[in-house]
Amino acid sequence: MAGGGGGGAPAAIAGAGGQPADASATSKDGLRAGWRERYSRQIRFAPIGEAGQLRLREASVLIAGCGALGASLAQHMARAGVGRLVIVDRDYVEPSNLHRQSLFDEEDARKVLPKAKAAETKLRRINGETIIEAHVADMGYHNVGIFAADADLILDGTDNAATRLLLCDEAFRLGIPFIYGGATASQGMSAMLVPGRTACLSCLIGEEDGAEEGDSCDTRGVLSATVEFVAALQTAEAVKWLTGNKESVRGTWLNADVWNFAVQEYKLPSGVASCGKCGCQARSNSAELHSVEIGLRQPLQDSDDVNFPDNRDRESRLHGRRSTALCGRDTVQVTMGFALELEREIKYLERLGCGVTINPYLVKAELPSPCTEKLVLFPDGRVLVQGTSDMAEAERICDEYLSRHNRRVEGTAG
Ligand SMILES: [Zn+2]
Repeated sequence: MAGGGGGGAPAAIAGAGGQPADASATSKDGLRAGWRERYSRQIRFAPIGEAGQLRLREASVLIAGCGALGASLAQHMARAGVGRLVIVDRDYVEPSNLHRQSLFDEEDARKVLPKAKAAETKLRRINGETIIEAHVADMGYHNVGIFAADADLILDGTDNAATRLLLCDEAFRLGIPFIYGGATASQGMSAMLVPGRTACLSCLIGEEDGAEEGDSCDTRGVLSATVEFVAALQTAEAVKWLTGNKESVRGTWLNADVWNFAVQEYKLPSGVASCGKCGCQARSNSAELHSVEIGLRQPLQDSDDVNFPDNRDRESRLHGRRSTALCGRDTVQVTMGFALELEREIKYLERLGCGVTINPYLVKAELPSPCTEKLVLFPDGRVLVQGTSDMAEAERICDEYLSRHNRRVEGTAG
């Protein structure tokens, strides 16, 4: 075995009969032993072939959100042989996720693992050759460019319109496709939006953050069949694009109901001339603008130490914390505006009588009776307050249950 380590060979390089193959063995063309066999059924599919499979190996995909859709998409991308996956999710695994979020299990929920990290562990077992970069973070203006850098396309696994609009804008700025997907109850929808070919998401659904909200899985429920149907649509378009079958993409907005079975398709309009995002390809100097902007991007780094290149975020940091009610979830996300020292917070929460669950990525605290709220603290300074939709109440709870140290830091920061 090359490289030492005691974990044994990943499945990707295990030989027939379950015996690990020599991890360092490569054929004359530089491919690992067993690579062709592993992907043989995909390679035999004529539109992909070995050339397409090699393209997948070189491809990089950003999966935004790793809930039901994102977990399924991540699994499909890893199994298909995509070379690099960047996964970003702000949430953790709960028992109510397990009926539809295919990468997670009861142990993940018991350990309160962040979805990005639980997914990373499973994906490494599925394909040891895929580079997995998992980030426990809230996607926003300040970091979308960092996560999307070097991506060949963006897969939508998010659950809200505001983040989708942000992602699609970034995709169009970079000149890469955004593959939209949504699943609620028995209804799913998907569309692949391509710069230079189709309109952008804001031209299709409007600019308001609230466009689609109210129709969440938490208010109307969702079937695993809906999720997998939509993930399959997104996966098919992604694989077409990444294997060079760019003329085969569907080019439609598809709505489906998997219960009262019906499918509707609408041809996607081309870019809107007056739109600064999808219409900008028509401008003669667009290529130059793109190259300048891409040249300014930051290299990908851990979410722990991302810097904040965007004015909008600097402004909000200056003014301290931000709160967002998560639609339909009876949860408020409070972004404190500074990193949390979890060791200190654990001691403080325990002193106040909270039941505390700890893992390397977050701290979950059940407030002492008669309170019923729960707090989930992330080191990046986010706190999920579960059991209320009232932002003022959530902030009051943070004031009461976060240590004085943090309150002092906040005071000096503002
Ligand atoms: Zn547009």
